[in-house]
Amino acid sequence: EAFTNPPLDAHLLTNIDLARYTTPTPVQKYSIPIVASGRDLMACAQTGSGKTGGFLFPILSELFKHGPPSTPPEPAGYSRGMARTRKAYPSGLILAPTRELASQIYEEARKFAYRSWVRPCVVYGGADIYGQLRNLERGCDLLTATPGRLVDLIERGRVSLSLIRYLVLDEADRMLDMGFEPQIRRIVEGEDMPDVHQRQTLMFSATFPRDIQILARDFLKDYVFLSV
Ligand code: AMP
Repeated sequence: EAFTNPPLDAHLLTNIDLARYTTPTPVQKYSIPIVASGRDLMACAQTGSGKTGGFLFPILSELFKHGPPSTPPEPAGYSRGMARTRKAYPSGLILAPTRELASQIYEEARKFAYRSWVRPCVVYGGADIYGQLRNLERGCDLLTATPGRLVDLIERGRVSLSLIRYLVLDEADRMLDMGFEPQIRRIVEGEDMPDVHQRQTLMFSATFPRDIQILARDFLKDYVFLSV
């Protein structure tokens, strides 16, 4: 059984071939059709289950099919002689608890966005912000971020979430354990983020305790529950 039901974008299938993935893992098998159908998703899956592909494959497939957004608004406040700073307007945002997980997701995103219009970026705390700023200035379509660093970049006016069509919360239970709920709520419930009907939201968590149920109620609409 291959990655063909429902059909993923042909360019993505080429990149999946290059990675020598022949068969979807169970979480991928179930999540791909759910996300492709446009539904929100609450998935309970462990690390090692292939959950990264479970959200990256359907999101990249849809992004490849639909193409880039029309040109984002030009930044305000540009004046002659000042260095021009471009703001990043990603179409997809993946929130992850740690630098390590964010970096892994980013590496997967790079692998599967290879030779496409989608430019992945990653930002996380505990590392120099200036390198990350320079990288964001070159454009960012699919952003993987830890919550605290992303709040910082939004407050500096360097990232806008106004064009987000896909939002993923990965390892949501670990993000709450690490105390990120205020930052997550600032991001997801901030005025810049398209509302729940204008975006597709996917949540992944190893466990489904009360606080995760509340986040799912607040961030997802009419969602499919998947447990693998
Ligand atoms: P994850 O649970 O997303 O961290 O993935 C665990 C490991 O499985 C990673 O090293 C992936 O590269 C690998 N992997 C994910 N999906 C597949 C697949 N369909 N076929 C082969 N390897 C996979």
